[in-house]
Amino acid sequence: MSGFTAPHCGALRASDEGHEVDLYGWVARRRDHGAVIFIDLRDRWGAVQVVIRDAETLSARLRLESVVRVRGKVQRRPNGSENPRMATGEVEVVSDDLEILSESQPTPFPIEDPEEPDEKNRLEYRYLDLRRPHMTKMLELRNKVNRIIRDYMEEREFIEVETPILTRSSPSGARDFLVPSRLHPGSFYALPQAPQMLKQLLMVSGVQRYYQIARCFRDENLRADRQPEFTQLDVEMSFCDEEDVFTLIEGLFAQLWQKILGITLPVPFPRLDIKESYLRYGTDKPDLRYELEISDLGDALRETRAEIFRKVLAGGGVVRALSVPNGKELARRELDELVTVARGAGGQGLAWLPGPMEKFLSDGEMSDVRRLTGAGENDLVLIVADRRRKAETVMGLIRQEVARRRKLVREGEWKFLWINPTYLFEEDDQGKLTYAHHPFTRPFAEDMPFVEERPYDVRAHAYDIVCNGYELGGGSLRIYDPAMQERVFQLLGMPLETIRARFGTLLEAFTYGVPPHGGIAPGIDRIVMMLGGTDNIRDVIAFPKTQSMSDLMLGAPSEVDSEQLDELHVKVVPPQKASS
Ligand code: ASP
Repeated sequence: MSGFTAPHCGALRASDEGHEVDLYGWVARRRDHGAVIFIDLRDRWGAVQVVIRDAETLSARLRLESVVRVRGKVQRRPNGSENPRMATGEVEVVSDDLEILSESQPTPFPIEDPEEPDEKNRLEYRYLDLRRPHMTKMLELRNKVNRIIRDYMEEREFIEVETPILTRSSPSGARDFLVPSRLHPGSFYALPQAPQMLKQLLMVSGVQRYYQIARCFRDENLRADRQPEFTQLDVEMSFCDEEDVFTLIEGLFAQLWQKILGITLPVPFPRLDIKESYLRYGTDKPDLRYELEISDLGDALRETRAEIFRKVLAGGGVVRALSVPNGKELARRELDELVTVARGAGGQGLAWLPGPMEKFLSDGEMSDVRRLTGAGENDLVLIVADRRRKAETVMGLIRQEVARRRKLVREGEWKFLWINPTYLFEEDDQGKLTYAHHPFTRPFAEDMPFVEERPYDVRAHAYDIVCNGYELGGGSLRIYDPAMQERVFQLLGMPLETIRARFGTLLEAFTYGVPPHGGIAPGIDRIVMMLGGTDNIRDVIAFPKTQSMSDLMLGAPSEVDSEQLDELHVKVVPPQKASS
């Protein structure tokens, strides 16, 4: 067989006219015209029409998706029968000899149908799903993204270093996947949530510029666009400041967008302080493809007769507002739906102006509201009064919802920005202090004197890159002073033994000459999704898991033999059924 050197089905053009070819591929379509059968023969590069005469003997076996070899001659299609929708549409191959190498039974879904098959079917028969031309394109796109990244990083003298998959837990805010050790009973490896500590240790090693297309594992609860394993472009560099990281990453995104979409991204990307981002957009990943800015009404309404606003403000909360362009035409039903969105996010509801609240506001207050929100004659002002974080979350969602309903999103635009600086700490669900990014993030030195009194006001040399409402990656300059690192661990409430056990290596390494360093880790899956124009993360991962973390094709996770468990010193305790 010489399929490797054979011409590609999808690559034949009018210039190949007269060539004798030997083709291999799958039967993508078939049309019978009496004694003549036409098939479209498909390989990874596309499909070409093949004309088969005297095919009676073969006919019954020439089923869709069977694998065949065709020898024949390329000819121009007769006048008027060209197919402009096919790249090979000017030609066809007249078969002299056709051999069926492997017959296909009917596939569980049509491979060539432009309609998406059912997702469960796609994942169960992923090897067939990937045969669909759309999915083949996605695999090729991902490969191209990886290649551009590698070329770009290597041109800048970064080297790719592989870090282990069997490793030790390093905090990134999620649960670890654990692997029991056979040789060390009762001990476990953790799969990396990210190679964070290792890449920092590589800086101590003197690597200076590291990158890795790195698989990361996080055992998080189900979220629509998350996968338990995903891929990051993990980067770390020595002797750098934020500007170096920004320039590097902006250049990379500019190249990806240029080489893949032919789009020139304006660099540098704008930067937005995280506080400003929450205030103006209600989120740390704002979509800037539409204007709609949130305003703060605190100063205007502090003394108002409207009790609900006054009380919230007096209690340390905030009043925030959004002006909906031509919002006066919103139907009552639509307003109710927006209230449902607000309540869904844990908010109390929404007030609007003009509306029932108006009678409690003075003329001066009304004109302040109009001035602050920029509301015009036909606009409607939506108002939320709540604790700051709640009000921001609610307003952020309302902003998105309004943009969607009023069709304000300028599709086709790419609005990249940096969120920087950010804060060192945040409150967790229990109201406890935790790190906002990870505990290695370098605080602003000038903010450290007040870290005890106002920890949440301490800024960090950290940044997120955001595009069209999605966070594409985050990173930071790192702490490289062991005393400072220890201090931050302590502020996070870690007991000394924990610090020693989990981070002793890093702290010791920092005593042997550590360069100031920093890095970032953009998510490759999301980048490919954007470049491929899909909202489904499973479209850009060859063998993804379902939302409940199962691999439907191979049937993972699966039970294992009791001998295997014994060897691993593991005993399974099934969860107790909740008593009724
Ligand atoms: N390791 C971090 C993460 O996965 C990124 C970084 O700080 O470089 O989020």
